[in-house]
Amino acid sequence: GNGLMKGRRGLIMGLANDKSIAWGIAKALADQGAELAFSYQGEALKRRVEPLAAQLGSDLIAECDVSNEASIDGLFDAIRQRWDSIDFIVHAIGFSDKDQLRGRYADTTRDNFMMTMDISVYSFTAVARRAAAMMNPGGSMLTLTYYGAERVMPHYNVMGVAKAALEASVRYLAEDLGKDGIRVNAISAGPIKTLAASGIGDFRYILKWNELNSPLRRNVSQDEVGKSALYLLSDLGSGVTGETHHVDSGYHIVGMKAVDAPDI
Ligand code: NAD
Repeated sequence: GNGLMKGRRGLIMGLANDKSIAWGIAKALADQGAELAFSYQGEALKRRVEPLAAQLGSDLIAECDVSNEASIDGLFDAIRQRWDSIDFIVHAIGFSDKDQLRGRYADTTRDNFMMTMDISVYSFTAVARRAAAMMNPGGSMLTLTYYGAERVMPHYNVMGVAKAALEASVRYLAEDLGKDGIRVNAISAGPIKTLAASGIGDFRYILKWNELNSPLRRNVSQDEVGKSALYLLSDLGSGVTGETHHVDSGYHIVGMKAVDAPDI
């Protein structure tokens, strides 16, 4: 890289393994000289995240369960011990009971609805507030969303409702924090095979459908999400806030795909 992120420090949340979207983003940022911190959910993930962080030259890793306020405070305490300011955050976290990521949305339980909203929506706001307190003008925040927020997708169910709320919270946060020169955006990624995605019913079919019906006639990779994240988190995106940017091979613009063979 040519140092687009040189001298910039940021926190990556949601790294589980080398298939995570957070990994694609972290690599793109580190390649441009960013200094990274990582949070991991629970001790079990520590032994996965530690070597990945080390690969990108980082030993600043801390536990954080975003459903717990004290745990989020603990993460920011750990960061503040090393850094007095932060330039960007990446929130690549979502969760729902996988038994409810199949079948009917109408059958979502109250408990799972609340848990899904808490972990997948409120956590970004909770983290944004703490990060903003350490950010200078020019700071940038990013979360990950999916087209199931805008249109009904099979099996996405309560997660689609949560992503719609997440996208709305990106707009409200962009207004609140814009006064301080801080930008807030979302990337709406096309389907990518990750740990979280494997919990969604018929995910392989969704992948195939996107491949066949998107304008680019293929799926996107974690690294492609990483490149677009770099744009939004760096000075290249300095005029962009409150945006949900699709990185999905163009799938979201399609009403009905043209038949590739001209005579049918
Ligand atoms: P992933 O399984 O690699 O990452 C999900 C992360 O969420 C994990 O690191 C997990 O530890 C973390 N997490 C869950 N509950 C948590 C909690 N209580 N506290 C802290 N962390 C918690 O999967 P991914 O696909 O890379 O997911 C990253 C983001 O991208 C999610 O928001 C997901 O909804 C979104 N997204 C994924 C796709 C896709 O097809 N994979 C498409 C669009 C958007």
